This record gives sequence, structure tokens and C-alpha cells, in this order.
Amino acid sequence: MTNAFELLATPTPPAEPADAERVAWEAYGIEGNARRLAGERDANFCIASAEGPFTLKIANRAEESLDVVAAALEHIARVAPDLPVPRVRRTRENGRLGSVQLGGVQHLVVMVDFLAGTPLPAGSSDRGLRRDLAGLLASLDRSLQGFFHHLSGRPLLWDLSRVGELRPLVGHLPAERRSFVELALDRFETTVTPVLPSLRWQAVHHDFNPDNLLVDSAGHLVGIIDFGDLVHGSLVADPAVAASYQCFGEDPLEVIPDFIASYHRHQPLTSEEVGLVPDLVAGRFLQSLLIGAWRAASHPDNRDYILAHTEYSWEALQRLTHHDPDQRADLVRRACGFAPVHRPRVDTDEALAHRRRRFGGVLNLSYDQPVRLARGEGVWLYDTEGHAYLDAYNNVPHVGHARPEVVTALSEQAARLTTNTRYLVDEVLDYADRLAALLPPELSVVLFTNSGSEANDLAFRMARAVTGQLGIVITDFAYHGTTIATDATSPEEHLRAGAEAWVATVPAPASPAIHHYAAAFDAAVATLAGSGHRPAAFICDSVFSSDGIFDLPPAYLREGYASIRTAGGLCIADEVQAGLGRVGERFWGFAIDGVVPDIVTLGKPIGNGHPMAAVVTTPAIAEAFAAREHFFSTFAGSPVAARVGMAVLDVLEREQLPAQAGRVGGYLRGLLGDLARRDPRIGEVRGPGLFIGVEMVERDAQPDPRMAEAVQNAMRRRRILIGRTGPGRNVLKIRPPLVFEETHADLLAETLGQVLAEIG
Ligand code: PMP
Repeated sequence: MTNAFELLATPTPPAEPADAERVAWEAYGIEGNARRLAGERDANFCIASAEGPFTLKIANRAEESLDVVAAALEHIARVAPDLPVPRVRRTRENGRLGSVQLGGVQHLVVMVDFLAGTPLPAGSSDRGLRRDLAGLLASLDRSLQGFFHHLSGRPLLWDLSRVGELRPLVGHLPAERRSFVELALDRFETTVTPVLPSLRWQAVHHDFNPDNLLVDSAGHLVGIIDFGDLVHGSLVADPAVAASYQCFGEDPLEVIPDFIASYHRHQPLTSEEVGLVPDLVAGRFLQSLLIGAWRAASHPDNRDYILAHTEYSWEALQRLTHHDPDQRADLVRRACGFAPVHRPRVDTDEALAHRRRRFGGVLNLSYDQPVRLARGEGVWLYDTEGHAYLDAYNNVPHVGHARPEVVTALSEQAARLTTNTRYLVDEVLDYADRLAALLPPELSVVLFTNSGSEANDLAFRMARAVTGQLGIVITDFAYHGTTIATDATSPEEHLRAGAEAWVATVPAPASPAIHHYAAAFDAAVATLAGSGHRPAAFICDSVFSSDGIFDLPPAYLREGYASIRTAGGLCIADEVQAGLGRVGERFWGFAIDGVVPDIVTLGKPIGNGHPMAAVVTTPAIAEAFAAREHFFSTFAGSPVAARVGMAVLDVLEREQLPAQAGRVGGYLRGLLGDLARRDPRIGEVRGPGLFIGVEMVERDAQPDPRMAEAVQNAMRRRRILIGRTGPGRNVLKIRPPLVFEETHADLLAETLGQVLAEIG
């Protein structure tokens, strides 16, 4: 049997009207004049004859299953004679099919009545007509319930159960659409593909689109044509395909529930089936986009025509994807009279009071109007009402929210084994190897922890054990964690007077820049000495995320490291924020200044949300620490974490996300720079890769925290999430997942422009 791609890749038969007239006569005894009709893969003709007009289809030479179409039409004529489908004209030998030789190749042929009427113009249906269409399709599907043909399971690319097979075509799409489409394909494969085989299957028309529906001059439906995509498929796929063509230019979430409910009234569906419809509709858009892009590439003469149609699918897919998947499924369920499956919403005020009771006053919420989240996908977050928010703030979902590869790795391993580092587990060693290979060769010992705070705490313990000294040097407004030791090195959190005597600070490379870094570090060492301490370590977040976000200036770390090492201390790069490709292809923040730290701490992004972190150091430091102290942490270094970490690195490498972070970060800084040039309220735009700070200032370049807060909240109201940082709380913090693309940057910058204009 031919494969699914071959059928669409094989050219239409080289048949001329004269060939059609010959076949009509020789095979069917019909004498008439042939006129060419349109067709995706076959040669179709209208034969005008004394017995009335006929449609003659000379099938593509790769088509071996034409009998499915003829047999289905005969079946419908028998069981539902009122349905307006063409009747099959039998051959002179009373066969359902004829055949013809063209250029030495045999082609199957079918002849049916030519139905009068004109195709329904796309996008012309009103609600009433749409409901009629749904009723008609329900009747058609009911008539096909008892139809069986041994070839109806043939491979067809337009078969909705085969959407996943289209992935190799993604490369034909414009580059800026690929990752969006990949994500949509991932979603289809995780939510639809596994479920479809357990639903009701039967013969379905599978192409109930306006081009295949004929109306008379009064607008009444008078014909259903083109049964060429009829397959054995899930019943619900049929109304889903039909609904997809009704969405063009409309809100899919208005059209789909109404269409499916109308169908359901005539041909009842189950709650599970209707809940799947929005994802099936998305699957049809994916088919149109991908098959369209592929065919446009192989038919350059017809490219504009093919691509004009796919634009509709692109637009509709985006609109559909902006709604929360659970909410949209429940919307269709509710329209059909089923109970929603997902949790009913609790009033936000009630949720806030609940939170206050249960969490005390300890935890803060972001934004003046808190965001009530239900789920995430890629760079998008969805609230409980189904609104989509562009996430330009969260760096933990490094390779995208709910990244399927990560979720799969996590759940597979959780289903197999999770344990601790007192056992030999290959996955954990493999992951440690992989992490170490990404760092300078000196840093080859990897110890896992559960959080960035614990990683920094362990780094401090190591530094103290190895140097025999106690002091820690930090930047002025640093943040390094929540343990007693790391909290003491996090002035961002408390700014309390009288820091611990073993803590000394150096300025971050603020603007106007400090120039004599060595002197600043020597001064911090002297401060420690004043209270009887020597430095065990200098720890630095390489993007200065709490100090206000700065590009690491040349020599800052080099001079700082030299000064601290002279005083006998170690140098720790806290890469919890900067690491793993966020700064671009240099991969680590510290690498920008060409230094090699003694210890590197990793966290947040390495687990894409799974709680895991790591300390990487030299064998000498590890040995010296092990000679004095012990370390074990129950959950740290579990095989689940290792598989998750591996999956993150796989995606990062396969999709070259560090390069993307560099490129998109540069692009976004460019857009923000343009805004800054036009608007004096914006000061500096700075930061490496996809870690960007936008300073809001008053006229005399003073920090303007009120403006920054107003902008942050106004952006949230327009459903774009950004943060705020810096000692003056005036720096907008933009730090999205690395799957952020230029289109997202455009949306962010455009919205920021609107917000600034609105604030006035
Ligand atoms: N270091 C830096 C630079 C951080 O930003 C953070 C978290 N914001 C931490 C350490 C602590 O990480 P965690 O919250 O995972 O303990």
C-alpha cells in the first residue's frame, strides 16, 4: 500500500478532457463533452451528456482505494436516500469502478452524478446555517455507522489520527512559526493521540469543508461532495474537522461549542469526545498549515494560492491556543449539557482570604491585581478564566512551561525508580557527567542539592572548611538564598542595619561605573579584617539580578577574584539566575569575563521547575571538604531530578536555545532602546542575552520606583508579566523562558509603548 505522503506527492494524472470523454464512453457508455474541475490529487471532469451531467474522477496513480468512495456512496444511497450525496454510475460491466491507461500507467476511475449548486463561500455561514450544517453532518455520520470497507483504514495525511506524522514538515514553515507549531504538535501528541484509539470509530467523511458543500441560489444546502478523504476514524473527528472550517474570521470559542452542541443534538457524543474537540480542531489547523507549507514548496507555481489558505489556519490556531485548554474543553462540554470536568472557580477575594489564613502574612503576591493561574504552556500562562498571559518574567521554566519532553522524563522515571545518592544509579552519574562537560575542565566534581539556597549554603560550608576562614564578600544588594547563612548574604531581603560581622560588600558595577574594582574588593577584605575576619569566599550573581541587572564589565570578576584569592578566599559564581544559556552562547554568566571560579552554584532553570540545584567544584576542594565534613541530602541527586535535568539539556541543545537567547535578547534590547530614545522616563536598557533590565527614571536620572510599579501593573492588566528589581525598585526585570521568540518580543515592546503612552 502507498504511504500517506506518496499520495499527496504524486502529481495529478496527465488527463485531458479528450481522455475523460473516451473513458466516459468506453467504460460507462456515456457520450458527452468534458470540462475540467478542480482537485487536490486527482483529475476531475464534468461530463455534459444527454443523460444529464456527471462527475468523472480519474484517480492519482498512487490511489489504490478509490472503491472506498464508490462503496460508501452506494451505502448512503441505500440507507439514507434523502441525503444529498452523488449517486454512483456503474460501468458497462456493472462495476463500481472503471480504469484507464494514461501514458502506460493504469488509473482507477469513478463516475457519479454531477450535483448542481455552488460551493458555500468560506466564512459566509451564519449561526443558523452552521446549525443546519452540523445537523446534516450528524445524519451523514449516522448513515455511515454500518458501513465497512476493508480499505477504509488506508493511510491518508489528512486523517486526524495521524497529525503527529506531520512533524517532519515543520521545516517548511517560516522559521518564526516553527516552535509554536512544534508546541502545538507536542500538545496534540500528548493529549489527543493516546486517547483517540479508545473512542468510537467508524467511517467518517473527514472533509466537511465549505468547498465540499453545495448550496442553491436560495442558499439551501443541496449537496455534499468529495468523499475522497473518507476514512475509518474517530466519530468525533468529523464534527471537529467541520467546526474548524467554521472558525475562520470568528472566535473559535464561540463557534466550536455551538457547532458541536448542534451536532450532539442529532448524533449524541460522550463528554470525553466533546472535551477533545478543541484539540482536534487545533489538529486540523496544524494539518492545513503543515501540508500547505509542504505543498507550497513542491508547487511553486501555485504557492500564493496554497499559502493564502494556510494563513487562515495560522490565525485561527493562534486564537484557539490563547485559551486555556481545560477551560475550552469545559466550554464545549457545557454547551452539550455535560458537567465541566475541571474545578469550579472560587471567587478571587475568597481565595485571597483563604491564602491569608493559611499562609499567614509571610508570602507576597505579585501585582496589584493578583494573577490566578491554572496552567502554563511554552511562554504562556493561563489564568483560571482561560486568559493567556505572555510570561516575560519566569526563568525557572527555562525550556518552556509544561515542556512535554521534561514532563515525560519526570513521569517515566518517577514510575520506575526514585531514590537517593547512597546507591549507585547510572542516570545520576550520567547527568553529573553532562553538567560537568558544560563547565571549564577544572570544575569536575558535581554535588546535587534541592534548591539554589542549599547550593550556596553548601558552597559556603566548603569554602569555610577548605580555607579555615569565615568571611563572605557579596555585592551591595545581593540575593543568595533562604538558609541562615545565605539569608545573611542577601541584603536585598532585609536591608537591615548591622549585617553580620562576617559579611562585607562590594558595589555592583552600577552606572556610573566604578573603575577600580581591585580597590573596592581590597576595601571589603579590609572591612572584614576590621571585625576580625578573613574571606572564605566572594560570591557573585553574574547578572546582578537583585542589584539592578548589569552587563558584567570586563575585569570586574578578574580583579575581584585576584583580590579575594590574595586574601586566601575562594570565588563562587552564583549561576542560579545567569546560568544555562540565558546570557547567550557563552552559556555561563562568569564566562563573559573569562574567569574560572572555584565553585559554581546552579539552580532554578536546570530543573525547569523540578526542585533541583547543584554545586560544581574542583577535585581538590571537594577532597579537602570531604576530609573535614559530611554531606548528604535526602532528595538531592535523585534519578528523577537527573532525568529531568537531562531532558532540559537535550531540549536546550537540540533547539539551540542559548543562541536564540542571544539573538532574541539583542532584538528585544533594540526595541526597548528605541522606546528609551523616544521616552525620557526610560533610563538605561541593559543586561546580557534574555536577562534585561529597563530603568525607569525621573527627570534628573533618579530612580522612579512609582513609575516602574505603575508600568509593571499596567503590563499585567494587558496580560504581559514582567518583574521589578534593584535597590531603587525602579528596574523592570524581563527574564522570560528561553523559548521566547522575536514575535513575543514585538508584543512586549509594543505593549510597553502603549502602557507608557497611557500612563502619560
Ligand atoms: N541565588 C540567586 C542569585 C537567586 O536569585 C536565588 C533565588 N532567587 C537563589 C540563589 C536561591 O535559590 P532558591 O530559591 O532555589 O533557594
